Amino acid sequence: MKKKIDARKNLRRIILNLHQYTAGRSIQEIAVKYKIDPKKILKVGSNENVLGSSQKALKAAKNALDRVNIYPQVASDDLANKLKKIYKLKHVDVFAGNGMDHIFEMLARLFLNNGDETIICSPTFSCYELATLWSGAKPIFVPLLKPDYQLDVKNILKKINKKTKIIFLCSPNNPTGNSMKLRDIKAILESTDKIVFLDEAYTEFGNRPLARWVDKYPNLVIGRTFSKIYGLAGLRIGYAFMHKSLGTYYKNSITPFVVSTVAQAAAISALDDKEFLNKTRKMVKLGKNYYYKELKKAGIKFLSSNANFIAINTAPLKGKSVTDKLMQKGIITRECSAFGKGGENLVRITIGTKEQNKRVMKELKDIFK
Ligand code: PMP
Repeated sequence: MKKKIDARKNLRRIILNLHQYTAGRSIQEIAVKYKIDPKKILKVGSNENVLGSSQKALKAAKNALDRVNIYPQVASDDLANKLKKIYKLKHVDVFAGNGMDHIFEMLARLFLNNGDETIICSPTFSCYELATLWSGAKPIFVPLLKPDYQLDVKNILKKINKKTKIIFLCSPNNPTGNSMKLRDIKAILESTDKIVFLDEAYTEFGNRPLARWVDKYPNLVIGRTFSKIYGLAGLRIGYAFMHKSLGTYYKNSITPFVVSTVAQAAAISALDDKEFLNKTRKMVKLGKNYYYKELKKAGIKFLSSNANFIAINTAPLKGKSVTDKLMQKGIITRECSAFGKGGENLVRITIGTKEQNKRVMKELKDIFK
């Protein structure tokens, strides 16, 4: 055997320059770092559902455990058919993935070559950049327009060239919380045949879902997730709506069995649990109104949100200094520097129960007094 083996030389060159995804902090991490009883830690940093999960979904998941000696459906057909029926889709295929994060991987697999470009409207969710970089493609950032973080349509269209493959849009946007104007999304779709990926991770909190637009715009791909309103983040399941003209190629490129039997069963039942969805929506609506009122009173700047979180503007303080102070008090929120330019002064807070929101607000008032 040769003396020194450097296995790294087998890596694709692009991989050498990647950095790890910055995830929200976990309860365990903060408990150890600040020596706080984990039970006393409040996690409102990752936009999970603080009410837990749909009981119907959990029951279906438990029942599905009896079948885990058998492979799941290769492409989650039952779930896909159910979603097609719910949204009355004609020319649209539905593909489930191991979280929406897996859908990004599939976009990279399907559309991106070394040297291609994607357009990303920042500050926004960092996984679009990651998927671009994995492929050796180049992210082109177009800042959202302040003060209300809307799409800069003119600039987006100006940046499109021969190398452009995907334009990433997020509505409601993470971390700013605003929905994008429908006429802007339409203007982009009608001006280009590039793929427009619309991330609707938070759409159930107040947007009109645009699934049926895919019937009309074959270049529109929509991503959705069960991690947020459905409370199934730990099961990892999301899905995409894609025009049938692309669907065949998605099918041919699919990672077989990528969604577990348990996750498929839970997701199918979660769709039926209207009571849990309404309870969550009601809590989020009340919580946002509470924050709007109290933040205004405290003189803390914030952005109105159509999602299950709210972003506060901490300037002149860096967001990180605010999240660090909150963490010392056992509250996990998210500083947004990883979301691209414009994120450094934003702190994103998941809407919680009345008591949880009060606890966060008390500490915020202390920091900004
Ligand atoms: N898109 C957005 C905008 C998100 O905020 C998240 C999760 N934070 C995702 C996609 C990923 O969702 P999933 O858990 O389904 O991978």
